[in-house]
Amino acid sequence: MNILVTGGAGYIGSHMCKRLAEHGHRIAVIDDLSTGHEQAVRWGEFHRGDVGDGEFLDRVFERFRPEAVLHFAAKSIVAESVADPALYYRTNVAGSLRLIERVRKTPGCVFVLSSTAAIFGRPQAERIDETHPCAPINAYGRSKLMVENILAEYWAAYRLPSVSLRYFNAAGADASGAIGEAHTPETHLIPRILEAALGRAEPVRVFGADYDTRDGTCIRDYIHVDDLCQAHLDGLEYLRAHPGCHAFNLGNGRGFTVREVLDAATRVVGRRLAYQIGERRPGDPAMLVADAARAQQILHWRPAHPQLETLIESAWRWHRQRAF
Ligand code: UDP
Repeated sequence: MNILVTGGAGYIGSHMCKRLAEHGHRIAVIDDLSTGHEQAVRWGEFHRGDVGDGEFLDRVFERFRPEAVLHFAAKSIVAESVADPALYYRTNVAGSLRLIERVRKTPGCVFVLSSTAAIFGRPQAERIDETHPCAPINAYGRSKLMVENILAEYWAAYRLPSVSLRYFNAAGADASGAIGEAHTPETHLIPRILEAALGRAEPVRVFGADYDTRDGTCIRDYIHVDDLCQAHLDGLEYLRAHPGCHAFNLGNGRGFTVREVLDAATRVVGRRLAYQIGERRPGDPAMLVADAARAQQILHWRPAHPQLETLIESAWRWHRQRAF
């Protein structure tokens, strides 16, 4: 297939491109390099530009003629979305709408959205399945939910087939060590721990140890980036046989506290890691764990790397020798 990957210079997008190339697909990447890295674009042709630029999209679509668009390009930091919601609505909502409109004008083209557990807001259940109410508590979650709603209406009105994949906490890196997580600034727990272990960052501050959880720190469901990529392949295959508007939650269904992640990282790195206990971070729910039974039943998706230590090991390999 001809597959257009927006945000293909970013963390999950670049892993997706590698996987698509291994499966023999033709790839074009769109990325404005606002947060991505040109060195991560190693598979397929590269078009530098903004998904919100209609003329740019026309040029890329006319030349490449995509049969599927995998849309990773987005702003994705909760705290930033609280401080600057306009950036999130402009990039994630207006930009996505422009792209979805272009897909609508491309007969036969299907759409896969990188969505997020942040669309659910405060959890009302131990594990979150697709029936959980969507009540996002920040502009990031709201912006992604708006795009999911647009996709539902575009299926109802125009028969544009789509899948929304709600990631829980993406982590880990490709086994080659050639690509991995590289955000500036880095806000995510596992890369922060590993960069601190390498002496490139301050010791990690644990954001709150007074939550109502087994050790007082927040619980998250960490899912390997390669498993997320596999779900995109499974989603594409499913869409071909079952055109519609679909959504799936993607996680391992098992939560780990921040302290448990620190303990696992200690075992991987092989020495004690210093950390401090700090204040809670605004907008953090105590616990976010997926119920991914639907993806397992319908997409036949099975995470290949569910072990936390294996996941951290793959990230460690990347951080020790990262190229960008
Ligand atoms: N966290 C932390 N210290 C950090 C970064 C994150 O204690 O320096 C905690 C955060 O409060 C959350 C978990 O680690 O409970 C995962 O946070 P991350 O930013 O990686 O992902 P998010 O859950 O915000 O998508």
